[in-house]
Amino acid sequence: MKQYVIREVRKDIFEVVVFENASHPNAVYEVDRNRQNYFACTCPGYRWQRDKTQHKHVLLVKFWIENLDKEPGFLMWFDGEDIEYAQMFTSWGNLLNECAA
Ligand SMILES: [Zn+2]
Repeated sequence: MKQYVIREVRKDIFEVVVFENASHPNAVYEVDRNRQNYFACTCPGYRWQRDKTQHKHVLLVKFWIENLDKEPGFLMWFDGEDIEYAQMFTSWGNLLNECAA
């Protein structure tokens, strides 16, 4: 099961880190929000997805903004159509340290 961690790198630029199962990330994608509140993802799948509003990385970022108030340290995943989450760590620095190890 893929799990995701999101952070805001700069204003309206979000990083989606994808974990497959281990503690090391499989991929990192960038989701940008433009001035019209439109979200776009840099991952390969986004380009081919017909309904961009249903793109999972965009859905995750929107969920994180609207429901988790951009709080760092949440691990998120899909349960069918629903997004589930759990707080895994309190500091983004801890995660980066683990990734670098
Ligand atoms: Zn994407």
